[in-house]
Amino acid sequence: MSETNVDVVVIGVGTCGEDLSLRLLGAGLDVVGIEASLVGGECAYWACLPSKLMIRAANILQEARRVDGKAGHAEVTPDWPLLAARVRAEVTGGWDDSFGVKRFGDRGGRLIHGRGKLTGPHTVTVGDESFTARRGIVIATGSKPAIPPISGLDAVDFWTTHDVIQAEQLPNSIIVLGGGAVGCELGQLMARFGADVTIVEASERILPAEEPETSAALEAALSAEGITVRTGATVQQAESRGGSIVVTLADGSELASERLLVATGRIANVSGLGLEAAGLDGTAPFTPVDERMRAADGIWAMGDVTGKAMFTHVALYQSAIVAAEILGKDHPSARYDAVPRAVFTDPEVGAVGMTEAKALAAGLDVVAVVKQLPATFRGWLHGSGNGIIKFVADRKTGVLVGATAVGPHGGEMLGMLSLAVHARIPLTELRSMIYAFPTFYGTIGEAIGAYGRGLSTVIDPPYKGFDVLDTAGAPEEA
Ligand SMILES: Cc1cc2nc3c(=O)[nH]c(=O)nc-3n(C[C@H](O)[C@H](O)[C@H](O)COP(=O)(O)OP(=O)(O)OC[C@H]3O[C@@H](n4cnc5c(N)ncnc54)[C@H](O)[C@@H]3O)c2cc1C
Repeated sequence: MSETNVDVVVIGVGTCGEDLSLRLLGAGLDVVGIEASLVGGECAYWACLPSKLMIRAANILQEARRVDGKAGHAEVTPDWPLLAARVRAEVTGGWDDSFGVKRFGDRGGRLIHGRGKLTGPHTVTVGDESFTARRGIVIATGSKPAIPPISGLDAVDFWTTHDVIQAEQLPNSIIVLGGGAVGCELGQLMARFGADVTIVEASERILPAEEPETSAALEAALSAEGITVRTGATVQQAESRGGSIVVTLADGSELASERLLVATGRIANVSGLGLEAAGLDGTAPFTPVDERMRAADGIWAMGDVTGKAMFTHVALYQSAIVAAEILGKDHPSARYDAVPRAVFTDPEVGAVGMTEAKALAAGLDVVAVVKQLPATFRGWLHGSGNGIIKFVADRKTGVLVGATAVGPHGGEMLGMLSLAVHARIPLTELRSMIYAFPTFYGTIGEAIGAYGRGLSTVIDPPYKGFDVLDTAGAPEEA
């Protein structure tokens, strides 16, 4: 076994591992990156980027279907193989990471394709090479699908998200196990391309971590598109039967489909990583870190493996902190009170900070305001159907602790809402702004106006046509 001293070893050169490595290489450090699969990781090849290109395509189809009765006539013929070819050519390069490998080398780093393993607090092995890190080791090994312990599931040829992204053909029917963000996004995507989709969620509502109003708005939209949504439904058994996959629910009913997608959450990728050799707990579902991303002395962890909030933007946020730690630079410590969450369904969901339930559970005295999007000027004009604006404010300080926008461009609404929660901008300040009319973000002003009326919870009925002129949705003075 060869032994080499380097500055930093990064295990997992995925979304944040690559980002950190390039930062450290840019600062002149001697970095070894070890990657078991593709340099660039999940986000680039199987998650954010390909899925969002596919969802954009599905949204175009849906907009075309909405033409009838609104603007003209359109006949829409979805073509999944066309989309699959675009994913291959335009986003993933045929799942080829040679660009990332070359860039790593060009910046002066050494990239090794293989599975890294900690063999001590400062050493990592890969194949027959051992590296001792002078400045530190960074664990950035990401996450993998959490497969629920369902009887018979291991004998079924089920899909994970990778299979959807790489599918050359769309199945005629598919059961999506899990009504979280990923299950809803991919379920709606496949339905819009023509698959018969059933989403099965064990909780009483889809997107159970979000506001109940969010779940209701999305469920109504999915159902209206012909997607079957089964909530409060626990799958007890799965089996292959006569060319179909059959799942049995706790109430004894059965669902059958051509394919089964398991999208029931994710767990840290730490098996075989040798965490124990460095004094870390290898059995925990995620690797604990402090606010400086330190897992142990000289060992940092970042990204999904920490389980803090499994998003690319959080992984990159953490990477910046680790870079500052290793390079001895100033950087604020990690805080997670204003983490933005976008769910790229239609209606799109943008949420930040605490939900009302989480705020109450944390013992905060909050006021919650809900404004239905069709009860706003832009929502009404757009014909947006299902959507809400909700914000949760600390009653005493008048500062937002959480906010949600469901509707067209819900994710983009996070620009203002995240800033408000992150910078703790008082509602009085937000109320004093001028909002462009009639915009979606202007609906935030309308919701704040409702709060200004001193109402603890406001649920406006949708405007019906010219009723809007009578009820006026502009913000009112406090
Ligand atoms: C379908 C889907 C859609 C998503 N969409 C979004 C989105 O729109 N926006 C968003 O913010 N987030 C999204 N996410 C989440 C996002 O993809 C992840 O949060 C992000 O990629 C995590 O980055 P990471 O660096 O922690 O992990 P990864 O990018 O997974 O990188 C970890 C790397 O470590 C490697 N590895 C593991 N073990 C070892 C080992 N022992 N040795 C060497 N290498 C190893 C892996 O091969 C992998 O390349 C989505 C996730 C899914 C599943």
